[in-house]
Amino acid sequence: MRRAALVLMTVVVAAVMAAAQAPAGRGRPGGPGDPTLPAGRGRGLQIQPGQECPAGTTLVRVGVCQAPEFDPPSIVDYRPSSTLVVEQHPVPRARYPVVDIHSHVNPTPQTIDQLVKEMDALNLRVLVLASNLSGERLRTTLATINASQHKDRFRAMAGIDFNNVGPGWGAKAVAQLEADIKAGAIGVGEISKSFGMTIRKPDASRLRIDDPELDPVWDAMGRMGLPVFIHTGEPEAFFQPLTMHNERWLELSLFNDRRNYLPGQVGFEELTTQRDNLFRKHPKTQFILAHFGWHANNLGRLGKLLDTYPNVVTEMGAVLYDLGRQPRAAHDFFVKYQDRILFGKDAYAREEFPYYWRVLETRDEYFDYYRDYHAFWKLYGIDLPEGVLRKVYHQNALRVAPGLPQRNW
Ligand SMILES: [Zn+2]
Repeated sequence: MRRAALVLMTVVVAAVMAAAQAPAGRGRPGGPGDPTLPAGRGRGLQIQPGQECPAGTTLVRVGVCQAPEFDPPSIVDYRPSSTLVVEQHPVPRARYPVVDIHSHVNPTPQTIDQLVKEMDALNLRVLVLASNLSGERLRTTLATINASQHKDRFRAMAGIDFNNVGPGWGAKAVAQLEADIKAGAIGVGEISKSFGMTIRKPDASRLRIDDPELDPVWDAMGRMGLPVFIHTGEPEAFFQPLTMHNERWLELSLFNDRRNYLPGQVGFEELTTQRDNLFRKHPKTQFILAHFGWHANNLGRLGKLLDTYPNVVTEMGAVLYDLGRQPRAAHDFFVKYQDRILFGKDAYAREEFPYYWRVLETRDEYFDYYRDYHAFWKLYGIDLPEGVLRKVYHQNALRVAPGLPQRNW
């Protein structure tokens, strides 16, 4: 409706719609013609300390709210152009070769040559396919890679089938895992967010992340010295009600499967507790915690986690919006935990990698992010030193995943 009004660009239509939909235009609280306005206060609406401005108005002076004279655009339509003039240093190609430990690309004989061309331009040396490949699918994918000219540009992780967890499941899962490793998988992953949230046991109870039936699998990985790449939960805001104060309002409104605040769903703290139990119970297993454990908005908490569990490293996929809005704290975190952070991107999109390079490598200020629904704010570069960049870009991954191509870095 609002969109149609903008296309037609007629004040009449907009006014009729606004009157039908929401308080807008004349008569809106604090706006021109509002009969509730206190006398002598112009168009302002007074509020008491601690009160919020009513919907449709904004604070213009201490204790005074006012409605804009024109219908405000919605958050999807408002795209202000910055007038800030500062130096720009886009980074189309990473300074050092990169292992992307978190890729969901699916190379085929038809696409692999073009894909490698793109990787070369970005300085992506190795993509680790983390799409839960197992059995036949894993073998087909590895066969495609090995039959190409680009054997050492890709590696794959194995998946785990969490269906029917119960007596006997562990032994079967370990046997499949060993077969997948033998076929060439270099670890397990990405264990998806459905683990802990939606996967059920045969008795219909929710499968807990720290369920003891799963222990044989984690222990087998520890024995083999191979990493487990695990994604638990979602950003904290996805577990909070969809109010005007939720900073992920747009994303939650766009994607109904991300709304984790509904009755019967598992809470954020419950998930992180189960996850941390897993780390504690298996100290000899190397875990790679995806997406900064969804603590990129609380680096102090992530630091404590890394201090507590030496068997955990973390991966930075899809949390760039949180790193780039706290450039000083993020810089210090990367320096302090330089041996514990791996580069990962998650969704493969050639156009999006340079935003990562720019945040990690430059001191640029207030530049655009690539996805409005993740973040309505701008990014800043965190300006990492050379040695830290090398570790994050590839050295840490090479240590944690010995199955990566180890030579010529
Ligand atoms: Zn992923």
